Amino acid sequence: AEKIGNGESLVFVQEMQEQGLENIRLHEKLQHAIANDEFHIVMQPIMNLDNQSSCNEGESLIRWQTPDEGFISPIKFISLAEESGLIIPIGRWVIAQSCKQLAKFIVRGGPKDFKLHVNISAMQLQQPDFASHLFTCIQENELMNGNICVEITESTLMKHTDQIVDTLKYLRRLGVNVAIDDFGSGYSSLSYLHSFPFDCLKIDRTFVSDILTNEKNAAVVSSVLTLAKSFNVPLVAEGVETLEMLEKLQEMGCERVQGYYFSRPLPFDDFTATVNRG
Ligand code: C2E
Ligand code: CA
Ligand code: CA
Ligand code: CA
Repeated sequence: AEKIGNGESLVFVQEMQEQGLENIRLHEKLQHAIANDEFHIVMQPIMNLDNQSSCNEGESLIRWQTPDEGFISPIKFISLAEESGLIIPIGRWVIAQSCKQLAKFIVRGGPKDFKLHVNISAMQLQQPDFASHLFTCIQENELMNGNICVEITESTLMKHTDQIVDTLKYLRRLGVNVAIDDFGSGYSSLSYLHSFPFDCLKIDRTFVSDILTNEKNAAVVSSVLTLAKSFNVPLVAEGVETLEMLEKLQEMGCERVQGYYFSRPLPFDDFTATVNRG
């Protein structure tokens, strides 16, 4: 038994080391990715069902195309960037590039009040110059503050420091929107929702994906809808992949949806063509 135990832990240690090496290697590549122009932004429409399925919101998502290893998912590299602090320059690039693309989209006929959601990590919000950098990008591109919605995950908010809350309040006071992303995944007490303001809830895809077959998750979606109504904010359901899911959500009273059923996240030209076609 001892032998088996040792063997298992050896394999475990090797896996850990390999994982560590893999991360070091990725981190090294990540350091040069901005300078090498390896990132781009894709945009995914968020549909408004109560208004003839119009689209005046979308989400900005980063993509990393490496020359030698192809596409690497943000699920893999964002956490690495957060651990190493590289999320700061990457996050600044995301904000600048998102504002640039949004301005170009509006010039090409997109709605002037279009709201682009941008994912923001906790560490970014803790930078003293976060807000001033965001406002600089908004102004340089002749956008309005209301054109931007910062998406903060529930887990970021749960470990909120006064600084994060102060920054969010400041942004909102100046008209920037705040959405709570991945809502429901943190199993948090709801009391924290009262301590800072927000404009939108986004329910985690894991709850939406099986509402047709899992009554418990359908009940979660339904109570989050009620919660959003009581706070007088819209709820966005992510991960809507089929007509059946869409119909079920509509039946439940959900008015904002995002997912492959409508569109995958798209490169700028495709997004512009798709959304401006109506
Ligand atoms: P998220 O913010 O929850 O973004 C939604 C994710 O769901 C995106 O994955 C999107 O492509 C995917 N998705 C949208 N509709 C569907 C659908 O119908 N079915 C399925 N299966 N998936 C759908 P993506 O782009 O791979 O991003 C993963 C996560 O990486 C994001 O989750 C976000 O947490 C993070 N991320 C992406 N871009 C950025 C960024 O610019 N900054 C930061 N800090 N995080 C980012
Ligand atoms: Ca998001
Ligand atoms: Ca989400
Ligand atoms: Ca997520």
